Amino acid sequence: MIYLDHNATTRPLPKVISAMNACMQDCWGNPSSKHPLGQEARRELAAARAEVGLLLRAQPVEIIFTSGATESNHHVLHGALHRPEMPRRIILSAIEHAGYMKSALRLRQEGVTVDLLPVDSAGRVRLDALREMLQQDAALISVMAANNETGVLQPVREIAAMARERGIPMHVDATQMLGKLPLSFAEWGADLMSVSAHKLHGPKGIGALVVRKGLTWSSLLSGQQERARRGGTENLAGIVGFAAAARHARETLETEAARQTALREALEAGLIEQVPGVTIYGAEAERLPNTVCLTVAGMSSDKLLDRLERRGIFASSGAACSSGGSDPSHVLLAMGVAGNVALGAIRLSLGRDTQLADISEVVATLRAVAEANDAAGSNPEA
Ligand code: PLP
Repeated sequence: MIYLDHNATTRPLPKVISAMNACMQDCWGNPSSKHPLGQEARRELAAARAEVGLLLRAQPVEIIFTSGATESNHHVLHGALHRPEMPRRIILSAIEHAGYMKSALRLRQEGVTVDLLPVDSAGRVRLDALREMLQQDAALISVMAANNETGVLQPVREIAAMARERGIPMHVDATQMLGKLPLSFAEWGADLMSVSAHKLHGPKGIGALVVRKGLTWSSLLSGQQERARRGGTENLAGIVGFAAAARHARETLETEAARQTALREALEAGLIEQVPGVTIYGAEAERLPNTVCLTVAGMSSDKLLDRLERRGIFASSGAACSSGGSDPSHVLLAMGVAGNVALGAIRLSLGRDTQLADISEVVATLRAVAEANDAAGSNPEA
């Protein structure tokens, strides 16, 4: 098997699994209990928060553990609309994660103005358009750090500065960037940040919302945990697993990012040279080291993925959560790609296990698939 779906999820590291096992066996107390078992759990929680903070470059007090980035993003929406002094208008990039985007757009039915910030043909948000949009006040500006489908990086720092100037809270969904490239909540100057552990070889169902110290943000889930900012007994084993993954990512990030960038460049060079009809999206922009979004002329994403899968290569079309759907990717549409072309897009996302031999095999396979498709002409059974 060649697994090229790391933007959907990653294999938990053995050290993550053993840290979680140890936690569940030996440290199963409730961190809110006053007795020694509870206090031990509380110490584990504090140590894990500090470790995750090192990777996020955020203060431990700024980190609220959640069930993942989807929940974190929903806390952001909730908080933005529960600040009576702020207008009921939010600005979101047109390429945000599908689930988040859907919830934000649904707010229109409740009378909230939701303005979508356009991107250019390379998939970068247009700062000129944001400047225009900022003529009017808003309760939130939300732009992801790196797109999950194309890997294109966004100018987070510039956007945070523009938001700060206007006194508007800025949120960044850094889910795809965390563990792939160094990032710094402190240096970006954002107010809120969402992340998730399972994209960096941690467990599923655990993530964080980072809230800048000093900013009050209304809680979606009432309760006294997480300093009353997210109710519900903490998923301590998940949090400990997140911390183990964060530590591993911090220690290996730079070498791994360089290694994957070289692999991605080899993959793209091979595709362009050898696969007839291939187009790579976002190639003109700075991107994550591991992500390639492509189409092969005349082939649907379903057919491409099926042909790859038959040869043991696992990938997905755009966002994994919308795989299997028949709608073209909203990200590619926002980049100006025609709907019928966007329907053919697949995403190859490399990871820590990907080797150069895998890249050669993927290129050779895609070449064979594209040539067979060309030879079959319009025969849909080919
Ligand atoms: N945001 C982005 C950019 C993502 O890529 C994903 C996952 O695909 C999410 C949010 C959702 O993360 P989670 O699975 O932790 O809810």
